[in-house]
Amino acid sequence: MRAVLVGPPGAGKGTQAQILAEELSIPKVSTGDIFRANVSGGTELGKKAKEFMDRGDLVPDEITNAMVKDRLAQDDAAGGFLLDGFPRNVPQAETLKGMLADLGSNLDVVLELRVDEEEVVKRLSGRRSCPECGRVYHVEYDAPNVAGKCDNEGAELYQREDDREETIRHRLKVYREQTAPLVEYYSGEGLLATISATGPVAEVTSRAKSAIAEKRSAA
Ligand code: ADP
Ligand code: AMP
Repeated sequence: MRAVLVGPPGAGKGTQAQILAEELSIPKVSTGDIFRANVSGGTELGKKAKEFMDRGDLVPDEITNAMVKDRLAQDDAAGGFLLDGFPRNVPQAETLKGMLADLGSNLDVVLELRVDEEEVVKRLSGRRSCPECGRVYHVEYDAPNVAGKCDNEGAELYQREDDREETIRHRLKVYREQTAPLVEYYSGEGLLATISATGPVAEVTSRAKSAIAEKRSAA
């Protein structure tokens, strides 16, 4: 299956992508995670991306598209993937379509996660992540077994630089202006499935699975 998750920052894309990718045995491809790994590894790509990420702006398409092209060409993505955080504007979506056409394939479904902005601010201000495995927690809504430590790795959890309220508000504006038009774009392509992303994580997962199954059986 080739799927994309779309939704504002904090909608739970990473959380759901991790669960769904495991259940479907396909890789989760998160552009945010790849950028952050490059920033912490001090690579050239990381140096170019960092200033945009710190401000909460999108990294330029040229850089992002090239990175995704490399990632999707890897063997583990040949049988399918779950994209989290890409595409983030219509030109990226057009590029993705071209990339997949070159590989003789196309997307099966685009799942939109809907959640209101005040909920997003609450979620992002309590988000904590594992530097080793990338697993995401929330101090209140999805706490680790031991406060501040990853359940898988025992590593010290960290708070993302861009999860400060001012940057969160800017990222929401960027979402409204640049990313939200993808909803109409993918609806026009006949690929869109929309679910509410509020409520417990497990309930959202079950809505996601039903929506994906329904879309695929209608195809
Ligand atoms: P995104 O990838 O869309 O930015 P994340 O998956 O990182 O979002 O989730 C953002 C924050 O919200 C994290 O702290 C996560 O633990 C929490 N979260 C995710 N899903 C839910 C949910 N259904 N209810 C409450 N909190 C959630
Ligand atoms: P995320 O982890 O999805 O919240 O992404 C964190 C940051 O990485 C974003 O605020 C952007 O600066 C950058 N980023 C992630 N994905 C993309 C993308 N598809 N296009 C441009 N920038 C991106």
